[in-house]
Amino acid sequence: MNDPKNRRFKYPFINCTHCGPRFTIIQDLPYDRPNTSMANFHLCDACFLEYIAPYDRRFHAQATACSSCGPSVTLVTHQKTVEADPVDMAIQMLKQGKILAIKGMGGFHLAVDATNTAAVLRLRKLKNRPDKPFALMSATVEKIKQFAEVGTVEESLLESAQSPIVILTKKYPTVLSTAISKSPTFGVMLPYTPLHHLIVTSFSALVMTSGNVSDQPIISRNDVALENLAFADAFLLHDRPILNPCDDSIVCVINKETQMIRRARGYVPGAIRLQKSMPKILALGGHLKNTLCLAHHHYAYLSQHLGDLSSVDTIQWMQSTIDQMIQLTGISPEWVACDMHPDYQSTRMAEKMGLPIIQVQHHHAHVAACMAENGIMEPVLGIILDGTGYGLDQTIWGGEVLLCEKHTFRRVAHLETVPMPGGASAIQYPWKMALSWLLKTFGTEGLDIFNHIQPQAFDQHSAKIVQQALDQKILSPLTSSMGRLFDTVSALTGLCQSITYEGQAAIELENIAGDTHRKYSYHYIDKDITIVQIQPMIHDIIKDIRSGIAVSEISGAFHTTIVDLLTDLCHHLKSKFEMDHVVLSGGVFQNKRLFSGLKTKLQEHGFYTYAHAKVPCNDGGLSLGQAYVAGLKVARVGL
Ligand code: ZN
Ligand code: FE
Repeated sequence: MNDPKNRRFKYPFINCTHCGPRFTIIQDLPYDRPNTSMANFHLCDACFLEYIAPYDRRFHAQATACSSCGPSVTLVTHQKTVEADPVDMAIQMLKQGKILAIKGMGGFHLAVDATNTAAVLRLRKLKNRPDKPFALMSATVEKIKQFAEVGTVEESLLESAQSPIVILTKKYPTVLSTAISKSPTFGVMLPYTPLHHLIVTSFSALVMTSGNVSDQPIISRNDVALENLAFADAFLLHDRPILNPCDDSIVCVINKETQMIRRARGYVPGAIRLQKSMPKILALGGHLKNTLCLAHHHYAYLSQHLGDLSSVDTIQWMQSTIDQMIQLTGISPEWVACDMHPDYQSTRMAEKMGLPIIQVQHHHAHVAACMAENGIMEPVLGIILDGTGYGLDQTIWGGEVLLCEKHTFRRVAHLETVPMPGGASAIQYPWKMALSWLLKTFGTEGLDIFNHIQPQAFDQHSAKIVQQALDQKILSPLTSSMGRLFDTVSALTGLCQSITYEGQAAIELENIAGDTHRKYSYHYIDKDITIVQIQPMIHDIIKDIRSGIAVSEISGAFHTTIVDLLTDLCHHLKSKFEMDHVVLSGGVFQNKRLFSGLKTKLQEHGFYTYAHAKVPCNDGGLSLGQAYVAGLKVARVGL
């Protein structure tokens, strides 16, 4: 591509059979050109001769093409196609600080020059994304090392054929805009298509964020992009249809081990091998970060990350993905697995499928996903630290220890419960959870305490409504969620009272955490189920806030305390159940400090720990766990 004498010089669709497009352009198997979106591009003589020559590297390369026979790029601005070289023009416009919608391999990106703060801020405003960090693309690892710390594991992930977004720690000083991310980290990827290479080489880095409207699926069609991303200054389009839209995958590295955060482009539809043979099962996943899973025999196939099922477009995408996965895997499901939540769209969809349904408790599915990918056969204690999930007792679970064996589970410990004022709306407003914990801990005095320590957190009117709702137990389901406890501490310390993206309050709390010897109190009430009392911790935290202890120290102490508390709890449960194999799962484990702290400490204390590597610990891994539990149930019980 970079050789001026080669006939594919600067050709944006030059491709390699090992790392080039495959899943996003395939309609059916086998992977032959007529079954791909290259079907309508007829090979020219030169390409055909390469295609049939056994010693040519393009021998039977299904997606081979050149500028005279393959797909091409156009630049559209103000609804007109630009005559000039589209790639050169795109580079020029990006240099001028413009926002470009660029069609890639799995969908559109919105791109701006990452050194141009005005452009980054304008993109934030137009995309309605005030706080969530943007992903970056930079031409080479050497360039990335100028603005981020790149360890050996990170480097090999960046350069892998999957080419995911890798979460890296920022370096200072930097030429990049500070508006890209408020965190000490951001996600970076290398260019993974020739078109990206041709553009990004002219920049230190580009912001490359998914081309979608907030909480909607990634856009993959030219017409939809022109309409829904109309705020972009120009559109760099191409005429190769994207048949299976795919977001960029996201991974991070904790203690030299890879953690999957979003599993999509590059990893899908790679199978996950299972120890146990499964009947034909389709699992529909959760509600947020939705994925699907088709399992049969010793293989489970997860779909790409589909996203938030509150959006009608995502639900439609999910439906077409089910058909597509059945087509590609040849597995016609005989059972359908889903969550127990009666209001999840995925549950409703399962009910309409006309197949026998197996409902799997949310946190059981989290543990089972980890058991499935690690091939765990023995009984385990599953520690699930999560946002929300529908529990067997109709409360909202999320800080649980489940004793899991084969397809069964038993809840053996959980956090003390607290009302969630307004139900799901409390997720958006961490101050509501903070107020709820204060009222539980200090009675009516709780409101005065919050008013005193965080006078700006809310208006009196809203606070009164929340207090009344709690008093009268209106729309205030009980929760044992660890995610909501992180939200609470984030709000109490004044970091985050309302959020604009999932997990924001907890992320800001983790980001500020410093080193400290300080610790908070907790104790257990041990009955049939062990209940971890949180009120002593809230007491201590309020005392610290009132005596002016730095937020970094309070956050550090809170993290340490959670690690200690869970280690103690494991010792207690070990003596009770004679088990020392521990699974760590649930979205809260995306917190690096918590995950590595707890894993290390448990190992030091002689426990065997298991965590996720192939699927996310968040709800993106649920479908695998659901399929696994359902498969074991069918095989064992016959239902
Ligand atoms: Zn050709
Ligand atoms: Fe979850």
